[in-house]
Amino acid sequence: MTTHTHHPSDALIAGFATGSLPLGPSLAVRLHVEICAACQSSVQEIEAAQGQLLLLQPDAPMRPDALQRALDAVDVGVEAMATGPEGSSRPSDICLPASLADIGLAAPVHLTPDAWVAHLAAPRVGGWRTYLFCAPAGTALPTHGHLGDELIMVLEGGFDDGRTFVSGDFVENTTGFVHTMQVWPNSRMVALISSGDAIAWRPADRHIGARLDI
Ligand SMILES: [Zn+2]
Repeated sequence: MTTHTHHPSDALIAGFATGSLPLGPSLAVRLHVEICAACQSSVQEIEAAQGQLLLLQPDAPMRPDALQRALDAVDVGVEAMATGPEGSSRPSDICLPASLADIGLAAPVHLTPDAWVAHLAAPRVGGWRTYLFCAPAGTALPTHGHLGDELIMVLEGGFDDGRTFVSGDFVENTTGFVHTMQVWPNSRMVALISSGDAIAWRPADRHIGARLDI
């Protein structure tokens, strides 16, 4: 458990704790909460407050997923690591957090031999496209904009886009944000990305979005 600089916003933490986020954003927040003591405390405070509210309303029905949510809370922080399925062209040294492996990933779509995305093996709901993104050391992604909010959970390596993000950091970009991502020169980057809408590429770069379906 390490200390991180970049955390999900209070609104995202509250949405996660109350189970009101779509799958992709919820997963992105979960992957951060699993390794961030400060955010775990925030989630537990909200869950405890919700528990108090339930006690004050003895006639209120228990949420159908209350037991599972309680079990999930116990599991936070002790998730095992799992590797990808055999036969996929995802590098075997990519270790997926269990909460990501449980949902599963589609076969990767490669932009280059070492740069690829693997979409979540789940229906796309509400426009949210969620995928594991891997790019080799030194990759410079061309300048692009976002037509929806973008959440990035850095799982390995890091990148700069005028700001610096390291493994464990959570990045929250709002609709309309424009940036140029530069993967660090000394290590590949692996990140879970959930975008509320498509990426806006410059005309010369539109093949990237089309090929990767992001
Ligand atoms: Zn945090």
